[in-house]
Amino acid sequence: AFLARIEAVEPKIHAFLHIDADGALATARAVDARIAAGGKFGPLAGVPIAVKDIVVTKGLPTTAASKMLEGWIPPYDATIVERIKAAGLPILGKTNLDEFAMGSSTEYSAFGTTHNPWDLNRIPGGSGGGSAAAVAARMAPLAIGTDTGGSIRQPGAVTGTIGAKPTYGGNSRYGLIAFSSSLDTPGPVTRTMLDAALLHEVIGGHDPLDSTSIPQPVPPVVEAARTGLTGDLSGVRLGIVKEFASGEGAEPGVIAAYQAGVDALVKLGAEVEEVSCPHFTYALPAYYLISPSECSSNLARYDSVRYGLRVGDNGERSLEEVMAATREAGFGPEVKRRIILGTYALSAGYVDQFYGQAQKVRTLITRDFDAAFAKVDALVSPTTPFTAFEFGARTADPYQMYLADLYTIPSNLSGGPAISVPSGLSDGLPAGLQIMAPTMRDDIAYRVGAALE
Ligand code: GLN
Repeated sequence: AFLARIEAVEPKIHAFLHIDADGALATARAVDARIAAGGKFGPLAGVPIAVKDIVVTKGLPTTAASKMLEGWIPPYDATIVERIKAAGLPILGKTNLDEFAMGSSTEYSAFGTTHNPWDLNRIPGGSGGGSAAAVAARMAPLAIGTDTGGSIRQPGAVTGTIGAKPTYGGNSRYGLIAFSSSLDTPGPVTRTMLDAALLHEVIGGHDPLDSTSIPQPVPPVVEAARTGLTGDLSGVRLGIVKEFASGEGAEPGVIAAYQAGVDALVKLGAEVEEVSCPHFTYALPAYYLISPSECSSNLARYDSVRYGLRVGDNGERSLEEVMAATREAGFGPEVKRRIILGTYALSAGYVDQFYGQAQKVRTLITRDFDAAFAKVDALVSPTTPFTAFEFGARTADPYQMYLADLYTIPSNLSGGPAISVPSGLSDGLPAGLQIMAPTMRDDIAYRVGAALE
């Protein structure tokens, strides 16, 4: 049924960079046969899934939406993909994204934009616009995203889907094509909170292959989502971030939808109070130093030798000339901007002033969260300041694109979990409410989100 749906609507949406109909059907049949023979599987066995094309899949093309990796077939599976396969979920294909997950609209994909199913002239968010659009257009019931600065949650918000960024270190990064290693986190994109929780339990948990993986059990997110679904939030204390409360820079309709969401949470029994997080306003500039710095180091591996593309190698040119020609042809403009920004921020004489300073801000933001969570169980905010915009509206000025991440970045910098839940419409387009919880207390965010949906 999902393959038929893909055939019907994918030409209009372009959520996928690669569709593996045969592989998905083969897995579905194999799982059926094993169940018939008495095999035991978890609750998601046979439920198809789409995977963001920055997560490596053995034998299936993985491009990170970059010409640099066009035609590359990974020889191994990411840990989360191994777990998805072991749980019996057929993989429908690989979804579109901004090149190397840098962007908020999927317009920076080297292989064409994805269209928002709510309005085909608008962006589906980014970087994981393909995963969100696939779920929103009912081409996949489940999808995997990755969130470095909001790339699971913001696409979720603008497509009316659930986007759950787990605790950093709670879900393995092994086999994620690295963007900013201290921030990258894979997680679920789904239609319901219970689906997200079930998928979280499939992919989550310690992985010895990831040096920053937390050696603790997965928080009880399924149980928490079920508790939330009873609709009772009495005793749950929620904090409104004072510094975001003015709604400055946000569309009035988004703030109204968020307010309606907060009112609904209060009706369900939650206690709400204002909490000050004075350093959150510095999150965006700190992120746009830290993530490009890490990206400039991580993307040094695309050197025309180790992977994919090689341009201008006529047997006479030097390695450096071939490398330069390859990087010139292989990287798009946003990726180049980030590499240059990061290289500058890390260069001798500037590293303390830029990268070092941003790391200090990161610590202050983590302390803001700690102080807030001494008073409340979770924080709430809008997910993103604006709904899906029209193609081209924010590509001329990079800062306008970066503003999409205003509310999502603090929890990337602290590492805490954060989930975007649909909170109604603004001018006919979906808006999202974000729930931020303490590190390894993903269950709290799932409970609140499930109560609200
Ligand atoms: N929009 C952010 C950026 O461009 C977020 C990216 C992400 O989470 N992968 O960096």
